[in-house]
Amino acid sequence: MPASQKPPTPAPTSGSAPAGLFDYAPAPESRAIVEIKPSYELFIGGEFAAGTGGTLKTVNPATEEVLAEVAVASAADVDRAVAAARTAYDTVWSKLPGSERAKYLFRIARIIQERSRELAVLESIDNGKPIRETRDVDLPLVAAHFFHYAGWADKLSYAGYGPDPRPLGVAAQVIPWNFPLLMLAWKIAPALACGNTVVLKPAETTPLTALAFASICQQAELPPGVVNIVTGAGETGAALVAHPGVDKVAFTGSTEVGRGIARAVAGTSKKVTLELGGKAANIVFDDAPIDQAVEGIVDSIFFNQGQVCCAGSRLLVQESIEQELLDALRRRMSTLRLGDPLDKNTDVGAINSQAQLARITALVEAGEQEGAERWSPPCQLPGTGYWFAPTIFTNVSATHRIAREEIFGPVLSVLTFRTPDEAVAKANNTPYGLSAGVWTEKGSRILSVAKKLRAGVVWANTFNKFDPSSPFGGYRESGYGREGGAHGLEAYLDV
Ligand code: NAD
Ligand code: MG
Repeated sequence: MPASQKPPTPAPTSGSAPAGLFDYAPAPESRAIVEIKPSYELFIGGEFAAGTGGTLKTVNPATEEVLAEVAVASAADVDRAVAAARTAYDTVWSKLPGSERAKYLFRIARIIQERSRELAVLESIDNGKPIRETRDVDLPLVAAHFFHYAGWADKLSYAGYGPDPRPLGVAAQVIPWNFPLLMLAWKIAPALACGNTVVLKPAETTPLTALAFASICQQAELPPGVVNIVTGAGETGAALVAHPGVDKVAFTGSTEVGRGIARAVAGTSKKVTLELGGKAANIVFDDAPIDQAVEGIVDSIFFNQGQVCCAGSRLLVQESIEQELLDALRRRMSTLRLGDPLDKNTDVGAINSQAQLARITALVEAGEQEGAERWSPPCQLPGTGYWFAPTIFTNVSATHRIAREEIFGPVLSVLTFRTPDEAVAKANNTPYGLSAGVWTEKGSRILSVAKKLRAGVVWANTFNKFDPSSPFGGYRESGYGREGGAHGLEAYLDV
């Protein structure tokens, strides 16, 4: 995340250091600003409407408290949502001039800013991520995305896609649970700016901010049917992407599901973008500023509990500084505060679901069985909820599962290299190609290494830095298509 969006680094904590004079007092954010209803309906045609596919429960992963019951959209409900989106597209949205669409998007962006505290608290409760992140990273970026694409709505003729680029129609959008509202913004803002209407399905474990967004659409008086939200799990998502009435499919999530979606839409005229997994290398050369690199490594793998597709989950460190860097990293990890996501001092929150915790645990066990050496700082995990201590593995070989598979958790695999060529070869030795990091004082080395890395994004002397004007997306098993900036418009235009 951008350094400017981050509060100062916290001092050592009671979690790991001896209790004493400099302990942090709890600083919980109040959840009084959020009203969670006992149950939620679908959002179709501008109204909340009952679903016919049963219900699911969403929990607070930090406490296992059931937060609400949420409707599951059946195939018939998806059909109604797509029909509402089609009507809105044909009769209103595709006919509005871009300058009018922009007004709605600006209005939505401003309401998000006004309600940002409420949305940040809600996101932390439903997802488990620290309030420091939802407040300082997710929400500012969500608003920035809507502002950015509001600005494009009346300038599409100047975006490089011809004098009068046309929208595609109805977009089916399926998003994951790791950045629920931010992924919604990445999908909905460019779609609407280009003149499409949408049916979006949030992840089953994090539906609440998408439903709050539905109420923002009402508040902004967005014409009914321009945005529809259907909640549910994989079956609902499958019905949505396969629906013959959709013209565009946008998916972010696992490579496995992405592959299935690519197969399901093959042979149709649907335009598809897929943003899938990653196994990014974060490469630290011997001339890198060690303390800065350590901060970057912590950011790259412990931000959002490592549940980030572009997480720097493989640390490649030049052999001559391995010991020094690992000593500094272990010291820094011992200061990370794990616990209540709503505490403003928390660095590491809860894992999003029991299923995700089980996946992380299984891969970490595989790492130990294959002979890698596991280390975590002393860290007391709360008794209820889903938690995993920040973990590093050393003695990792390139063939280990923890070096190849996406763990999607707070687990770093450390590998070493001797020469820049070896670093590049190891970094590229993955079926993925989403992101990478390079740490060195030499500008020329940054450029020469970055050019050889097969990754959609390469960060230099920083990591996990996002901006709505900057395109994001992968190669190979990380998917295809770009989100963000002028590049992100292409996915929603008939070009
Ligand atoms: P997933 O791919 O199963 O779920 C992502 C979204 O797709 C959810 O909304 C889900 O309901 C929906 N979905 C599931 N099956 C579908 C289908 N057949 N058709 C259409 N939509 C479907 O991801 P997950 O189970 O939540 O996580 C599994 C793994 O995926 C993680 O361990 C991680 O490696 C990866 N992941 C990656 C990202 C990312 O940002 N790239 C995000 C979440 C998860
Ligand atoms: Mg939840």
